[in-house]
Amino acid sequence: MPFSPAPRGDFPILSRTVRGGAPLVYLDSGATSQRPQRVLDAVRAMDVEHNGAVKRGAHQLAEEATLAYEGARDSVARFVGVDADEIVWTSGTTQSINLLAYAMSDASVGRGPERFVLGEGDSVVVTRAEHHSNIVPWQELCLRTGATLKWLDLTDDGRIDLDTLDVIDSHTKVVAFTHVSNVSGAISPVNQIVAAAHAVGAVTVLDACQSVPHMPVDFRALGVDFAAFSGHKMLGPTGVGVLYGRRELLADLPPYQFGGSMIELVTMEETTYADPPARFEAGTQAVAQIVGMGEAADYLSEIGMEEIAAHEAKLTAIMLDGIKEIPGVRLLGPVDSVDRTGAAAFHVEGVHPHDVGQYLDSLGVAVRVGHHCAQPIHRHFGVFASTRASLGPYNTEEEVGVFLRALAGVRPYFRLED
Ligand code: PMP
Repeated sequence: MPFSPAPRGDFPILSRTVRGGAPLVYLDSGATSQRPQRVLDAVRAMDVEHNGAVKRGAHQLAEEATLAYEGARDSVARFVGVDADEIVWTSGTTQSINLLAYAMSDASVGRGPERFVLGEGDSVVVTRAEHHSNIVPWQELCLRTGATLKWLDLTDDGRIDLDTLDVIDSHTKVVAFTHVSNVSGAISPVNQIVAAAHAVGAVTVLDACQSVPHMPVDFRALGVDFAAFSGHKMLGPTGVGVLYGRRELLADLPPYQFGGSMIELVTMEETTYADPPARFEAGTQAVAQIVGMGEAADYLSEIGMEEIAAHEAKLTAIMLDGIKEIPGVRLLGPVDSVDRTGAAAFHVEGVHPHDVGQYLDSLGVAVRVGHHCAQPIHRHFGVFASTRASLGPYNTEEEVGVFLRALAGVRPYFRLED
């Protein structure tokens, strides 16, 4: 019986077939993950049984909705080792990072404390491995404030090159970097980067979107100031995510959206703002999705992230060894399975990534093709796009075997046998 730590029977979609009868082999969890029945049920129950305005009503439904909503915050906070009042709901990683960059932009025009103020001569440091959502908001912040964007560079196999750590200097105000690259799968040396940033008083921002679904993650132990991740990458719904911020930093951060639910007192002349996290949650939130994300965090915690990480490490090693043996296929990332996850992008010589993807799809294997919203790292590898297989906690060794056999057939199919 094929084994996966997240039982396959929990995921209705995994039993479907595609393309006229091929069993689905889902290797695209890096783009979006599948949801267990428990999460689907939790979302549906919010709509069918408990729908009421969160924190706004005196009636039972409002109370049930509020309890579920705040319970989800507790679950997600526990999942990443922090306190519930340090968790801000957003629509996803992209919004979380934009929230921070906008708040810093406001601080820079006199609406926030010195630690968040940027101006000419200051720098924001990212890495060449970032997803566009951890580059473009910072480029915009620099455009608005006159600060300069700098970056840590990469080694040939796509790891962050610690020899370039000296771009972090006394002018650096923010260091924003990914925990795990969504292209190379490389795990970043968080401790060294955080130490370099904090040595110069810079604020650290971790894009944890590709790490929290695959390994135990404790933001407090990592020592980061802010972190962002998305529900849909960790077996939860789309349209929901988190910005984590250390309590004292969130307390100092100016709000970036204004309206209901984020205020303390409003008069016609002026307004005072609520404490975090409410200060950053203007308007009505995606309540059912938030509850689904909480359920996903509980589901993963109950299986155990250690167990998931160990299983995925085993499958990653098999996948990498298999890819290395296939003529004409080049991995874009570390070739051994140490300090990396099971997101594996590769280049098939002579075949466009879209053709690779379509061929694999015709055999039931779902992968991602394109630049994966990470053009700079693709440029680093000398290609404009790639194919990426990425694992989730429901994948099995048998599925990796199906994928490898299919991949081995790509070049022969296109008459490119060596
Ligand atoms: N960062 C990384 C590393 C990602 O892989 C992704 C999603 N591909 C994002 C950020 C953006 O996440 P979302 O689209 O959920 O906002």
